Amino acid sequence: MARIVVIGAGMGGLAAAARLATVGHKVTLCEAKPTHGGMLGRFERDGFRFDTGPTLLTLPAVYRDLMLKTGRTRLEDEVELRPVDPGSEHLLPDGTRVALANASLSRVAAALDAALGAGAGGRWGAMLERGRGVWETTRRPLLEEPLPDDPSALHRDPYVPARRGLLARPPRTLADVARRELRDARLTSLLDEYALRFGLDPERAPASLTSLPYMEQSFGVWYVTGGLRALADAVLRRCEARRVDLRFGTRVEKVLGEDRVTGVLLADGSVLDADVVVDDRAPAPTGPASAPGAPGRFTLLLALRGARPEGVAHRTVVHAPDRADELDALFGPAPRLCEHPTLQLLRPDDATLAPAGHEAAVVTVTVPPQGPVDWTDPAGVAAHTDAVLAHVAKAAPELGERLLWTQARTPADTAAETGAPGGSVPPPSLAGAGGAFLAPPNAGAPAGLYRVGGGAHPGGGLARVGMSAAVTAQLVGTP
Ligand SMILES: Cc1cc2nc3c(=O)[nH]c(=O)nc-3n(C[C@H](O)[C@H](O)[C@H](O)COP(=O)(O)OP(=O)(O)OC[C@H]3O[C@@H](n4cnc5c(N)ncnc54)[C@H](O)[C@@H]3O)c2cc1C
Repeated sequence: MARIVVIGAGMGGLAAAARLATVGHKVTLCEAKPTHGGMLGRFERDGFRFDTGPTLLTLPAVYRDLMLKTGRTRLEDEVELRPVDPGSEHLLPDGTRVALANASLSRVAAALDAALGAGAGGRWGAMLERGRGVWETTRRPLLEEPLPDDPSALHRDPYVPARRGLLARPPRTLADVARRELRDARLTSLLDEYALRFGLDPERAPASLTSLPYMEQSFGVWYVTGGLRALADAVLRRCEARRVDLRFGTRVEKVLGEDRVTGVLLADGSVLDADVVVDDRAPAPTGPASAPGAPGRFTLLLALRGARPEGVAHRTVVHAPDRADELDALFGPAPRLCEHPTLQLLRPDDATLAPAGHEAAVVTVTVPPQGPVDWTDPAGVAAHTDAVLAHVAKAAPELGERLLWTQARTPADTAAETGAPGGSVPPPSLAGAGGAFLAPPNAGAPAGLYRVGGGAHPGGGLARVGMSAAVTAQLVGTP
């Protein structure tokens, strides 16, 4: 039995702690804050409850596996999972509206043909088919196994382009795929949104990112009743059941040991001895000191008077009317706020989130992190709130007159609550681009130090963070 200290009770740290305790290790989890979940936060006021982090779940199999391996129960015994159908509704830059079915590539293609013209669904479906090829090639080495000692095979992009020939070089980026294979600004906007929502620039992200829309549109998107925070509660209960020693309000200052870890130094000056340390903290950004980190999220919580109307979509994406302006604002040399950004409006059909006869909705936008934009400036946050509300009104004009109050949550809040530098949200790991989009491995120096969570292989997002816990537990091994 090893003495293991896990640093951080984000989903990566909680899932790793539950797995390691289940196989017989003595696990102590140190969390700086008084609560668990990290980015999977909750805001409550006047009987309204909101997720402040992720709002939807993909690949629930990751958390099914966690529940089975740590307690032989089904995920469905711990939380109520509901498929979201339609998976998303879109208000495209030219004003076209289209609803895309959940977990049905053929229904997605039919909806695109009907809304955008015959052939649109076929081109989208053919691209997703190539995304399926990426998924099948990279699933094991990129998601299910530790990063290999020699990751060079993952430096090449496995996306196989539509046509091969002397003049047809493989597309290098997601934007290349859209230009060559989708050939429609509206489909490009649909594809771009997958990059933007993970904080990635479609002009730089490798073509292998096509595996993300393939995965979502073929395997589906789920909601957890009570909000996604209920998933963090379930994993916390599992840690308690496996007798993880949970220490909240316990900040780790430093990992101790030179060649091999010996323990951690806590903020109160005491030392916890350990044979293994598993670190769920977000790493500091690499690169030039002046470079901003990955983007963060601006989240607007909307308390609405009156009941949620029947039939509104759970998730509506309002696309940016000016693609070049949005990409320059987020990824250009001087990151700034975009006045009309791509955003998601989330309206769960869940009576537990609001007082009877009222509705709780959430808007999320990918934005520059704290640094290039000063998210501590109340006037700037108020101005951005107004711009986002005006943009949301294009999709749901009735929301304005139903507003009781709003609460803005910014990258500065994410930074304060999770320690993520600048409130950056780590993106998923991707194959291609010479390895530039691969997250750091789960094991490193000194011996006995492991990493989990969004800052480690296989990168950010709830499903991947759960996978990182499985990979790290496998690397640590059994007592
Ligand atoms: C607004 C928002 C929306 C998002 N939307 C989605 C989405 O729709 N889909 C999706 O898949 N993902 C989404 N994400 C990303 C997802 O939430 C994260 O990838 C995931 O939750 C990160 O988990 P983690 O365990 O890596 O780290 P975190 O959640 O950052 O947890 C790290 C923990 O470590 C603790 N800690 C830090 N320093 C110390 C220290 N010195 N000592 C002790 N403890 C410490 C922190 O307090 C924190 O609890 C979103 C994130 C945000 C912020």
